[in-house]
Amino acid sequence: MTVNLKEKRALSNFLELLAFSSVKKFYPTAALKYTQVSSIENIYDFLLDCVDSGELKIAWEVKCTNENMICARKINDVDDKNTILNEDVMCDLCGHEFTVSPLDVYPYFEITNEYRELVREDLKKKRNRLKISMS
Ligand SMILES: [Zn+2]
Repeated sequence: MTVNLKEKRALSNFLELLAFSSVKKFYPTAALKYTQVSSIENIYDFLLDCVDSGELKIAWEVKCTNENMICARKINDVDDKNTILNEDVMCDLCGHEFTVSPLDVYPYFEITNEYRELVREDLKKKRNRLKISMS
């Protein structure tokens, strides 16, 4: 399953907007919310492709699993999730101790500096073209 043409365009626009903004990181659910692409799996696949092609970087966040008080405090950020799986961690907020399983690790994405610069350069060029055509 892949995103269709319209969805792909919406996702590309979303990434460009992020590249202009000061947003440092975002979750796949944010892309789902802003683009109205129907499937989170498709969005995730698209974002992974963008990691391959250099627009994005993927990283992982471990959240507290204490369900009694629905803590969900962020415990750790790692670039490679394998470095944290099966590690014993403790939440500094609620004191809950647990062993990290794949379900406790959440992906997020960051805009790479390279992509950010490309998008900003393109905008400058567009503005210049606009100036020329209006004068
Ligand atoms: Zn906690």
